[in-house]
Amino acid sequence: MEFTYADVRAAREIVRRHLPPTPMWRYPLLDELTGATVFVKHENTQPVGAFKVRGGLTLLATGVRDTVTYSTGNHAQSLAYASHVHGARCTVVMPAGASAERADAVRQWGAEVVLKGEDLGAAQAHAEELAATTGARLVSPGDTPELLAGVGTLYQEIFEAEPDLDAVVVPIGSGTGAAAACVVAAALAPRCRVIGVQSASSPAAHDSWRLGTLQTRPNRTTVAGLATGRGFALPQRIMRDRLADFRLVSDEEIAAARRLLASRAHTQAEGAGAAALALVTKFPEMFAGLRVAVVCTGGNADPHELS
Ligand SMILES: *Cc1c(COP(=O)(O)O)cnc(C)c1O
Repeated sequence: MEFTYADVRAAREIVRRHLPPTPMWRYPLLDELTGATVFVKHENTQPVGAFKVRGGLTLLATGVRDTVTYSTGNHAQSLAYASHVHGARCTVVMPAGASAERADAVRQWGAEVVLKGEDLGAAQAHAEELAATTGARLVSPGDTPELLAGVGTLYQEIFEAEPDLDAVVVPIGSGTGAAAACVVAAALAPRCRVIGVQSASSPAAHDSWRLGTLQTRPNRTTVAGLATGRGFALPQRIMRDRLADFRLVSDEEIAAARRLLASRAHTQAEGAGAAALALVTKFPEMFAGLRVAVVCTGGNADPHELS
């Protein structure tokens, strides 16, 4: 499982056939609050509401016709959407207790949803069984190089628009986005530090990176997108030497950052989409006077969260 900047460049040709670059805007009210020059990259404007669609489209462009995966959130929607675009089959295993809205969001693209198991680990086991019996390709949300290549295109767009950034802050669940950011930054903006952020209530990726070995941890955050209970090998291997820093924020700090994005940047972010800003507001001394991109990775808030 190798992954290089050349893979991201190839993915760019695929992604741009389907999706225009997303906007990256400044909001003086955020600068005033943080003491930094803040750029917000709006992946919440993507068709399925999150950056992961770039990875799904890149994977499906390889010609794979039948996939099975496990996810409750944006990865599922991304793969379902890309399979719809390519006329391919897609099956998503979700834990039996997954919300009806999340299952419907996947079904609307023609994917099959299988509700099975009491948590994501059990759903993964069932997806592995299905792949073994049907011959469908099992897609890991974290350890799939095509997904890293696709999501890396977002960081190409960032550095093309702003070549002179001091830092880019990336919310981390499995780490595909941050790993790709590290590879793209090394090629296009070697001076720019890539900094990760995860919820303190689900610190598996953070602790894996700090300790240098894959860890499993309690997974209690309510912030979908950052909710992973284990480290993933491929992104962790890439992040190990190249990620400049990795910090934790609380779910409450993330909620406050969502309110800031709503009131100061007229943007609806889901929790994970606000985590990067939460880091900048939590540690202003890390960013004072610097040019910082925060990636608003997604905007898929369910009705319960919105209320
Ligand atoms: C998946 C997701 C993340 C985390 O991305 P990884 O590549 O899994 O680290 C962050 N934000 C949103 C909105 C997501 O859907």
